[in-house]
Order: sequence, then structure tokens, then C-alpha cells
Amino acid sequence: MKQGSSDKTLALTILGSGTCVPSLARSACSALLQVNHSRLLFDLGPGSMRRLLEAGVSISDVGFICISHFHPDHTGELAPFLFASKYPAGSRRRNPLTLLAANGFSDFFNGLKQAYGDWIELAPEVFSVIELDNTGPDMRRFDDFVLNSIPVVHRKESIAFRIESAGGTSIVYSGDTDYSENLISLAAGADILICESALPDHLKVEGHLTPSLAGKIAAAAGVRKLVLTHFYPECDSADIEGQCRKTYSGPLVMARDLMQICPI
Ligand SMILES: [Zn+2]
Ligand SMILES: [Zn+2]
Repeated sequence: MKQGSSDKTLALTILGSGTCVPSLARSACSALLQVNHSRLLFDLGPGSMRRLLEAGVSISDVGFICISHFHPDHTGELAPFLFASKYPAGSRRRNPLTLLAANGFSDFFNGLKQAYGDWIELAPEVFSVIELDNTGPDMRRFDDFVLNSIPVVHRKESIAFRIESAGGTSIVYSGDTDYSENLISLAAGADILICESALPDHLKVEGHLTPSLAGKIAAAAGVRKLVLTHFYPECDSADIEGQCRKTYSGPLVMARDLMQICPI
């Protein structure tokens, strides 16, 4: 987006800034993005539907769900979401829902269907699945936005997403990842990078970022605003902002549940 302008067609709300660890303050991973007339979710961890309602949005308003990978803190509410889109019959979903995830999603989804059967199967007129490449960049165009994806370093199906509005505003969602050159290229020049920062620097684990590594990625990509999220409880007693400032000097936001984030 051009400096000094603001894209009124776009609104971003963090629904869950936490992890698998149960927390009243931090629900599991999810973010809501409105782009023009479309609403999409990045991930759908347990508790996402409740947070969605708290944000004033009904599940039938959501037209797209982008799934970064299959860990339960990112997908745990998918089956309940689909079930609630079908029952009770009087409030059954009528507008289309598109799920976007990497190759391998069909196997994951078939497993869910083996457990739940047609309780979670929506009519084909309102439901579609798009599998994206998990070995290289991929792209899809929709009426209100362009979606780009790229594999990141966490699970074999892990991908990060970049959504670009017609006005040129770009939002990148990392999903879970370790340090990733792919994420730097996907996030190049983005208006907002929502980036996982699972644990403080001194508690780094394989497959996840820390504040200074997330900052390093944001600085290398030249993003205009960095939003750190996916905080394990250990982050609450550490100086996450200070650690991120070792590597990144631009606008920085520590995500909280139900926080609304505007492009610069
Ligand atoms: Zn994960
Ligand atoms: Zn996670």
C-alpha cells in the first residue's frame, strides 16, 4: 500500500494469540481478516468460534478458512465449525465456504470425516477445498483478494499465507515456523506480518521462532508493521518486545485476543 493512504476495505482482528496451552486470556491460534466483502480466517484453534462471536461476526459470515498446518491448536475447531454450519437445519449455511490448506489436507480431512461422518460434510454447492503446493510458492485469485502461499519450516504441510487486497494492502500470516527464507520472500514489503513468536529467545525450540528471530525476518522482508503472536505462557514473564527490538526497529505490536490491527 502507498505511504500515507489507508485501505478502508480491510480490517484485521486477532481472535486467538495463544497456543495449545489452555488460557482464559489467550485463545488458540486464529485471526480474522475482512477484505472488501470477504471475511477469512487464518487458522481455527479451539475457542475460535467464541472469539468470533465476541468480535461481532457470525460463522456464516466467514467465506474462507486458511489453514497453516494440521496441529490441533490451529485446526481444533474445524469439525465443530463445519457441524455448526450444518445444524440445526434451519440455520444451515447458504453462502459458500472455501478451505485453503496445503497438499495433504484431504487425507487429514478424510480422517475427520471417518470420525464424524456426514455431520461435518456440507453440500457441495456451498463447500470447496483448495489444496496448495507444499513444495513451492502457490497463488489463487478471488473476487476480493489475491492469495499467495509458500512452505515454511515446521511440518511438511506447513504454509504461510499472503493476502493482497484490490487496493494493494498486503497481510502475511506465518503460521508456525522456524527461521524461514521463504517467509522473508513471501513477506517482502508487506503492510503487516503476523508472525509467530512462540517462546522467548533463551527457550528457543526447533520448529518455532523467538522474538529476535521474528524481528530478523521482519527486518529482512522490510515489512511495515510486525505483529507477534502464538505466545506460550513463558512469554508473559519475558521482555518479548525488548528481545524483538534487538533485530527490528519498525512498528511492533504484541497481539492480544480481540485486538484490532490497522495497516499503517
Ligand atoms: Zn504447530
Ligand atoms: Zn501452533
